[in-house]
Amino acid sequence: MVEEQMQNFDLIIIGAGVAGLTAATFAARHGLKVAVIERMGAGGQIVNAESIENFPGFPPGIAGHELGPLLHEQAEAAGAEVRLDTIAAVELAGAHRIVRGTAESLRARALIVAAGSAPRLLGIPGEAQFRGKGVSHCASCDGPLYAGRDVCVIGGGDSALDEALVLARHAARVTVFHRDASLGAQQALVDKAAAMSKIELGLQTSVEEILGADAVSGVRLRAAGTGASRVQNVRGVFIHVGLEPNTAFLHGMLALDATGHIETDIMMRTSVEGVFAAGDIRKDSVAQLVAAAGDGATAAIAAFRYLKHGA
Ligand code: NAP
Repeated sequence: MVEEQMQNFDLIIIGAGVAGLTAATFAARHGLKVAVIERMGAGGQIVNAESIENFPGFPPGIAGHELGPLLHEQAEAAGAEVRLDTIAAVELAGAHRIVRGTAESLRARALIVAAGSAPRLLGIPGEAQFRGKGVSHCASCDGPLYAGRDVCVIGGGDSALDEALVLARHAARVTVFHRDASLGAQQALVDKAAAMSKIELGLQTSVEEILGADAVSGVRLRAAGTGASRVQNVRGVFIHVGLEPNTAFLHGMLALDATGHIETDIMMRTSVEGVFAAGDIRKDSVAQLVAAAGDGATAAIAAFRYLKHGA
């Protein structure tokens, strides 16, 4: 029987971002046998963040590629096992939660889903065609490729401004195009961007098409007020228009809201007994690292209580 060959854990955590690794540390310290499954590498989305300045305890900021390994080390030191695998399917009904990866299948009585989000796509012409040929979602990865060139960022939230600040260290000019009249980003980032002469704002401006032949050469823009169309020459287009939860593998298995986020109560319990969710994958998450860590700790304690006392 395949299932008899599965390794048994008390708790499986899907995702080794801040939420998942914090949950792993707390659960392992409570004495649970914990497996964390991650498809890329520990750290999640933060690994591409050049400087995280609002995580408590690091006044000068900390790079994501430093914080990720520290969280990983802490989870393993507590006794959690972190395994690289891609989830193929999960089975939530029955006494055990079964997680089938492409490499192995594991089972546990409790599961925490902390699989995070992926960058939202715009769905405009040129976006898919020029991915990796001028279209990017990561300034710290690709910014140096645009040294001395003009680039643009699409979006008006924290990610857009964070990325514009990184790009301004390399590019000749960075234009942030945002469809609304004002930015939604936190004031600290707005002020930093305003102080950089290389960063320009293109408010009330939508990007309708990404142009080029073999690689990006420009963007076609439309002004919200006048409806006027124009082309701006850029060599790089960095898209930061929000995040989509990584819940495709859960559709129909537990309650999701209209945007695909997992519904939880205040203890991170989902609609399925023994299944918890943590981080920006859940409904009403404020999508901040410190909140993801808090969710992870809460989910781990709720899972521990569930395993000890039942629902
Ligand atoms: P976000 O806060 O959801 O902002 C998305 C931005 O993209 C908004 O300006 C939105 O404009 C725009 N947008 C959405 N769909 C669009 C479309 N189809 N076309 C054009 N523009 C579109 O996403 P985010 O900036 O990626 O941040 C995600 C979460 O991570 C947030 O909670 C954020 O605070 C957090 N974060 C924090 C930090 C930090 O603390 N330093 C850094 C990065 C991210 P509208 O307002 O018009 O919808």
